[in-house]
Amino acid sequence: MVITIDGAAGVGKSSTAKELAKRLGYQYFDTGAMYRAVTFYFLAENVDLESNNQVTKSLDSIKLHIDFSFDKEMRIFLDDEDISLKIRSQEVTSTVSIVSAIKEVRDKMVKIQRSFAENGNFVVEGRDIGTVVFPDAEHKFFLQADYDVRAKRRLADFEKINEAKNINEIKKDLEKRDKYDSTRKLSPLKIPNNATIVDTTFCSFDDQVNQILKHIEKMNER
Ligand code: C5P
Repeated sequence: MVITIDGAAGVGKSSTAKELAKRLGYQYFDTGAMYRAVTFYFLAENVDLESNNQVTKSLDSIKLHIDFSFDKEMRIFLDDEDISLKIRSQEVTSTVSIVSAIKEVRDKMVKIQRSFAENGNFVVEGRDIGTVVFPDAEHKFFLQADYDVRAKRRLADFEKINEAKNINEIKKDLEKRDKYDSTRKLSPLKIPNNATIVDTTFCSFDDQVNQILKHIEKMNER
């Protein structure tokens, strides 16, 4: 079974999806990490993102490995290196939306996402999970929150990896990324059909998780 959680950056998807997965005994699946890992690789390989040939070749040679065995955490490896933290850097963050808009990249990532979810119970977070990857999922959620709250959450994320950041810079980056992600031709960020919208602006973390859990319970009773 798959539960989908979509929404823009900083709306609280990751923390909510992780906690939901923990409480339900499901596996947490962060699809954004996959696009970040591909971006990390393309940057390291100096791939010209305008060159279809280079992108395709690089996608053929990438050795990505997703490991779900870390106590419900998801870790992502490139060759044998755990890059789960490195993919959170500013450099990756400011390029990932360009990479995720490339058709060949999306095709490959979506295939992998679907193949994983065939075997187990997952809480999957991303931008197109309820619209494109698992449109028939039983439980679909769309998280949203206002810009100031989102920027503060992102700032805390950067502090975790010791990257000093300015809140205005973060806001600009969020706006840019939102615009890119929601206006791209392929699988743009939008509210999936039949999704439940959860506004996390004024919610405590516990409240937002409980709200979603209650909704799932109610739906399961039907
Ligand atoms: O969730 P996170 O901020 O880590 O996602 C990084 C980027 O990956 C997003 O800005 C978006 O461009 C891309 N993404 C996507 N589809 C997904 C998940 C993430 O295009 N399902």
